[in-house]
Amino acid sequence: MIDRTVPADQQPAPGPPSAPDPGTGDAVLSLRGVHQVFPTPRGDVSAVSGIDLDVRPGRVLCLVGESGCGKTTSARVAAGLAAPTRGSVSFRSGDVAAMDGKERARFRRSVQYIHQDPYASLNPVRTVYSTVSAGLRRHKLVRDRREARRATAELLERVDLTPAGDYLDKYPHQMSGGQRQRVAIARALAMEPEVIIADESTSMLDVSIRVSLLNTLGGLRDELGVGFLFITHDLAVAKYFAWDGEIAVMYLGRIVEHGSTPRVVNDPRHPYTRALVSAVCEPDPDLARTRDRVRLRGADIPDLTDLPPGCDFHPRCPLYEQGDCDTVRPPLVPGHDRLLACHVVGGG
Ligand code: SF4
Repeated sequence: MIDRTVPADQQPAPGPPSAPDPGTGDAVLSLRGVHQVFPTPRGDVSAVSGIDLDVRPGRVLCLVGESGCGKTTSARVAAGLAAPTRGSVSFRSGDVAAMDGKERARFRRSVQYIHQDPYASLNPVRTVYSTVSAGLRRHKLVRDRREARRATAELLERVDLTPAGDYLDKYPHQMSGGQRQRVAIARALAMEPEVIIADESTSMLDVSIRVSLLNTLGGLRDELGVGFLFITHDLAVAKYFAWDGEIAVMYLGRIVEHGSTPRVVNDPRHPYTRALVSAVCEPDPDLARTRDRVRLRGADIPDLTDLPPGCDFHPRCPLYEQGDCDTVRPPLVPGHDRLLACHVVGGG
C-alpha cells in the first residue's frame, strides 16, 4: 500500500503489481463499447469511440490523457449525466438506460461526481451546512435539523475540515480552493456512494494542497471501500493516487494502453504512453537531464472531424512504420501483461 504521507517522488520502489488485470473481479460500474458522437457544423466529432471500463469496489481506475481526448465525456457518460450514442453503462450489472425511476435514483446516489472547479460546483449563496445536508434532507437520511447538522459535521470531519463547527456556517467565498473541494467531497460522501467519479478534482489546487486532498481521497477509498474513476491529465498524479490500481491511457477517444499502474508507469509500451511518462516533471535536475525524452514526429493533434487513416497517433508517433500504421487502426488487445493498441510494440 502506498504511504500517503510521503511525497510522490519519494515513494519507495514498488513491489510486484497488486492490481488485478483489466477484466477480472466484480465491477460495480461498467462501460461497454461506449461511443459518444457530437454533431458539429463541420461534421460529427467522435469524442469517445468504443471504450470498455470497469470500476471495482475500493479500487482506483485512472483515466489519463491530454486535454480534449474524451476523458470528461467518458466520465459524464459513466455518471449517467449523458447518454452514450452507442454502447452501455451498467451499475451492479443493471443497464442504466433500462432502469426505472427507483433504480435510477439509487444509481444517482451511488455514483457521485466531483467536478474540477470547486468554485463553480458550489452554490455561492448556500452555507456549507446547507450544501452538504441538502442530499441528506432530500433523501430523508436525517429526521430534523439537529440531526442534519450533526451528520454534516461528521462528514466535514471525515474530509479533514476540522473543527467542523468552524466551517458549517461559512459560504464558499470564505474558504480556500482546497477547502471548497473538501466540501464538494463531503457533499458526495453524504450520499454514501459506491463509486466516486473525480474529474480533474485536484488539478486547480496548489501542489501541497493537491497531495493532502489525494491523501484524504485515498483514506476514503481504503476506509469506505469506495471505487474511484479518477480522471487526470497528469500522470504523476495518477501514479500517486492509483499506484495499486489501474491506468487506462486515452488518445482521441480511444484507450491505447490499459493495465496495472506499476506496469504502465514503470514499463510503458505504447508510444503515446511513453511520451506521457517522459514528460512527467522530474524534481532532480541531474536525473531530468539524463532521462530519455520521447520525441514526437509532430506536436499537432489531428482534427477530430478529419481523423487520419490507420492509427490515430501515426502523424505524431516516433515508432511509425509505413504500412499498417497508416492504413489499419490497431485494436486494443492483450499484450505484455496489459491491453495495447499498437501494431509495432505488440498487442495490435
Ligand atoms: Fe505508432 Fe504505429 Fe503503434 Fe500507432 S500503430 S502507435 S503509429 S507504432
